[in-house]
Amino acid sequence: MVPNIELSDSTDIPQIGFGTFLVPPDETARVVAEALEVGYRHIDTAQGYGNEEGVGEAVRRSGLAREDVYLTSKLTNSKHAPDDVRSSFEETLEKLGVDYLDLFLIHWPLPTRYDGDFVSTWEAMLGLLDDGRLRSAGVSNFEPDHLERIIGATGRAPVVNQVEVHPYFGNEAVRSACASHGIAVEAWGPLGQGKSGVLEDPAVLDAARAHGKTPAQAILRWHLQRGDIIFPKSMHRERMAENFDILDFALTAEEVAAIDALDKGASGRVGPDPKTFDRV
Ligand code: NAD
Repeated sequence: MVPNIELSDSTDIPQIGFGTFLVPPDETARVVAEALEVGYRHIDTAQGYGNEEGVGEAVRRSGLAREDVYLTSKLTNSKHAPDDVRSSFEETLEKLGVDYLDLFLIHWPLPTRYDGDFVSTWEAMLGLLDDGRLRSAGVSNFEPDHLERIIGATGRAPVVNQVEVHPYFGNEAVRSACASHGIAVEAWGPLGQGKSGVLEDPAVLDAARAHGKTPAQAILRWHLQRGDIIFPKSMHRERMAENFDILDFALTAEEVAAIDALDKGASGRVGPDPKTFDRV
């Protein structure tokens, strides 16, 4: 059984989900249908991925009850103006073909856009919670000072912050800021997007070998044991199954520490720096 994490608004989120970044729109229904067959019950998409329709189609075709699949989407960067937040949320519900969404995130803070005003965007996100069609509101790629600003202005913390985290980029400053506010961390790029080299790192290979598991499984297990929420992505059914099969072993404290020690700080990032990222 995939463990649930209880969020600060008392809702539960499955700790293991399935990611859909760069899953092409015309393949999404097939890919997500396979992920649901494998057993994933939490799907992470975004307006910016252009594949919400395919996610919705797969959920409907699966025959699973709506409440048995946890769905996350994200507000795209061109929709930060408060008036746009509600209309683009409505579009997301329509594209997914659902009458409520479990979790909606501000995708990027964009501190150099919109006069640096992501606070009004956050207030508009909170407004979506009022009529029950959004269950939980969160953010993504928020740095500690971005979190301080929205919490200071509204008194309300996001339930999650979805940020880049993997062994080469532990993102500890953000993780500890989240912990101090009761914000759950969602680790995007949990496998370093398959291109950081972390899947071949000796510390990872050693841990994998010791448990008869693959490098990807060792890394994903490391995330689980740190308490973060993950949604690795793969277009291939065998890898979807591999990435889901991480509940029957545990890394030792020494193995966790050896993987923790791989953190390269900012130079380990595979994605953009949220302080300067400004693509709209
Ligand atoms: P990831 O770390 O999940 O890596 C995916 C890649 O790793 C695959 O394309 C494949 O090349 C490789 N891979 C997958 N399984 C493997 C296996 N078992 N063995 C070897 N290689 C394997 O990267 P991701 O997709 O960028 O991140 C996961 C999810 O996080 C995304 O799909 C998306 O939903 C979310 N995300 C969010 C943001 C954000 O800004 N909020 C940014 C990036 C990703």
